[in-house]
Amino acid sequence: WAKTRKISEWRKSKVCVRCRPMNKKESAEKARRCVDISEKTGEVRINKKSYTFDKVFGPNSTQVGVYKEVVVPIVKEVLGGYSCTIFAYGQTGTGKTYTMEGEKSSGSEFSWENDPHSGIIPRTMNHIFDELNSGGFAEYAVHVSLIEIYNEEIFDLLSVRQDIEKLKMFDDPETKGAVKIKGIEEVAVSNKEEIYAIMERGSQKRKVAATMMNAHSSRSHCVFQIQMSMKIKGEESDGIGEEYIRQGKLYLVDLAGSENVGRSGAQNQRAREAGNINQSLLALGRVITGLVERSPHIPYRESKLTRLLQDSLGGSTKTCIISTISPASTSQEETLSTLDYSARAK
Ligand code: ADP
Ligand code: MG
Repeated sequence: WAKTRKISEWRKSKVCVRCRPMNKKESAEKARRCVDISEKTGEVRINKKSYTFDKVFGPNSTQVGVYKEVVVPIVKEVLGGYSCTIFAYGQTGTGKTYTMEGEKSSGSEFSWENDPHSGIIPRTMNHIFDELNSGGFAEYAVHVSLIEIYNEEIFDLLSVRQDIEKLKMFDDPETKGAVKIKGIEEVAVSNKEEIYAIMERGSQKRKVAATMMNAHSSRSHCVFQIQMSMKIKGEESDGIGEEYIRQGKLYLVDLAGSENVGRSGAQNQRAREAGNINQSLLALGRVITGLVERSPHIPYRESKLTRLLQDSLGGSTKTCIISTISPASTSQEETLSTLDYSARAK
């Protein structure tokens, strides 16, 4: 399928910026608004500097708005049999997790499904099941997994084991370019209701793991993987005449905080973590730049994260980075460095 279909011309990677509202702490500190967003032109202005991105979202943007603009076209590709990745990149506290997972409104009048604060993960699962159920597929299966990459080590957040186990990654001999994780839990999801319990389970495990390792979630990457396979009926398969299986994959990645944690007199463990975070975020940047520039050598092997995502970053895949920023003058330096990183990934 992937070989016969002509891939529509779209740039491999898109970069969007989302600016959250000023928060209470920033207001209390009398921070100035130093970021100016123009949703019409895709411009972000800060300190007389101006950047242009594929899409920018201002402080009043909604979860559903971001989903429609950014995620809907990517989910279409995934249902069509491609592998895609969406990243949230930015300083801690700017809305990566809010964008990826979302939050529950206080008071439980909403289910995740209807909650205006639900993020990309639950919305994507809803969307996928709606599409899969609305026909065309003789059969389908959906599996999800959730891992955390902390200090260049991989932990399974959906593992049923009590303890926290490190997992190993290996090159899959059957699929060129694909990397597999040995012993990873791949949970079959049969309807969208199940996903909320799975997300809860993952975030509980993430808390337990953080406590056990004396770690902080802002220093780890969280990778949610959705794999689906659909059996396509013969007559709808461009005249091939037989049933065949189409597979799609989507990675939704909540990256470690982009701030340089090593800067403020970090202790040994902290310094090492900081080194690893910077290393893996820089490796990701180099991979994306390499893809954008169609460089002959893409340095996937420089970090666990880029190795894992290898088959969903190159080739006929789509990648989107959502960079999150604060509007406040007190975060100006971090915001500038986020925007510089993001501009290089265009
Ligand atoms: P990060 O994961 O980047 O560290 P969070 O997603 O935890 O940041 O967001 C930090 C805080 O800011 C949370 O309380 C969240 O509710 C709030 N927040 C983030 N983005 C937005 C937004 N676009 N609109 C409203 N509140 C937001
Ligand atoms: Mg977070």
